[in-house]
Amino acid sequence: MSLLVVGSVALDSVETPFDKIEDALGGSATYISLAASYFSAPVELIGVVGNDFPKKYIDMLEQHNIGLEGLQIIEGEKTFRWGGKYHYDLNFRDTLFTELNAFQNFNPIIPEKFRKAKYICLGNIDPILQMKVLDQVSDPQFVVCDTMNLWINTMKNDLLKLLKRVTVFILNDSEARMLTEEPNLIKAAKQIRQMGPEILIIKKGEHGAMLFTEDTIFSAPAYPMEMILDPTGAGDTFAGGFIGYLHHKRELNSENIKRAIIYGSTMASFCVEQFSTNGLENLSYLKIQDRFREFKKISNFNETN
Ligand code: AMP
Repeated sequence: MSLLVVGSVALDSVETPFDKIEDALGGSATYISLAASYFSAPVELIGVVGNDFPKKYIDMLEQHNIGLEGLQIIEGEKTFRWGGKYHYDLNFRDTLFTELNAFQNFNPIIPEKFRKAKYICLGNIDPILQMKVLDQVSDPQFVVCDTMNLWINTMKNDLLKLLKRVTVFILNDSEARMLTEEPNLIKAAKQIRQMGPEILIIKKGEHGAMLFTEDTIFSAPAYPMEMILDPTGAGDTFAGGFIGYLHHKRELNSENIKRAIIYGSTMASFCVEQFSTNGLENLSYLKIQDRFREFKKISNFNETN
């Protein structure tokens, strides 16, 4: 059974205090699929690019066993482009430009043979497009959804409709406060779960992530990193590691969900070590396991002395 991933596939131009890159591979669906590909196969990417999208990126995604039957390549169009500049505090960035290009008229079409998929990851795109994907799947059982401040600001009603059909909603702390107009995160989490998602994950940038379910609050640390080169895609990569691990396990108990959060954080820590998707392209099972265990070490303590 495939894991379906929908979202943006982009060419990013990113500037950090350390360096900058132009027209490098990016996009929410790209980061999610790459991260998930280390845990589960097949991952099917649903998205759109223009015919300027470099062949080397197609090859790299295929080498990771990412299925591209659902990736539309539009003749005469350019690929979606995004530009961002990070401040010295890497938690803050300015969007320099967003050129929708091929995304402008994107109509996601799920190939017939993937319409029975049970695991769906709705990467950050317009909530109406996310809904169109769900409408084409006959019986989705585990739907993970990511979003961003833009959609909370401009399409809140559509997002609220979508949330009723979502199992796991992932957003960051400032987005949670924005969505609920509630400054306290614990109260905000309660309100968001009442909007539909059974499971809520609030990401807190370099401070880790929190999981909220009916009867659990679980706090995952962030990996203590001395060098973060480029935070772009960390949130998408987190979502990819999370759903990839759960798709591999096929059993949604609370221990697996907690481990999935740590795998998500593990993958995000590799992502930010390099620009673009470079930190996700040459990983191995052993490297991932080693870092996963480091996460356990940094948050483990004895109850008694
Ligand atoms: P993140 O750092 O996790 O927020 O994700 C960054 C990625 O989101 C970049 O690779 C961008 O190409 C992509 N992105 C930025 N703005 C948008 C947008 N409006 N819709 C879809 N994807 C976007």
